[in-house]
Amino acid sequence: MIERIAELTGNEIYRCYQCQKCSSGCPFAQYMDFPPAVIIRMIHFGMKEKLLSSETIWVCASCETCTTRCPNEIDIAHIMDALRQECVREGFKPAGKNVYLFHSAFMSSIKSYGRVHELGMLGKYKLKSGNFFDDLKLGYDMYKKGKIKLFPHKIKGMRDIKKIFKKIIN
Ligand code: SF4
Ligand code: SF4
Repeated sequence: MIERIAELTGNEIYRCYQCQKCSSGCPFAQYMDFPPAVIIRMIHFGMKEKLLSSETIWVCASCETCTTRCPNEIDIAHIMDALRQECVREGFKPAGKNVYLFHSAFMSSIKSYGRVHELGMLGKYKLKSGNFFDDLKLGYDMYKKGKIKLFPHKIKGMRDIKKIFKKIIN
């Protein structure tokens, strides 16, 4: 497990000496089943099943606070991302089902347009999750203020986006 995550992220995970700086700074730690430092320890011990079924990897918002706080320059946010990839690749059932559905709708929008098209992304998420009525008023208010566009726009660098996705999938 440690070799695979090191290969995916280029991190020297063994350098972690469990100072807990990542966990104490994480704004989402209270919603996680295992705080970031424990996730790193579980990688040391090769606890693949527990890691890939944990809610933590889906609760992590990739804010990179942990990464900037780590005295050993371990990019924990990148490691969380790699664990999400491994979870999907290895066919584990993502622990936070709706977080995963939102994540896939987000990635699908990036893959199609190189940026997020909020209306399309939310439509896809709601269709898959069945959460049709949550946040409808908020969405309408955002639309009225011009924060949500009706139609998507592709970015100029779509060739690069396609290359990145190809690299990730392979
Ligand atoms: S901040 Fe770095 S060294 Fe400290 S516990 Fe977290 S990963 Fe390990
Ligand atoms: S990147 Fe994830 S684990 Fe790190 S501080 Fe942010 S939410 Fe917590």
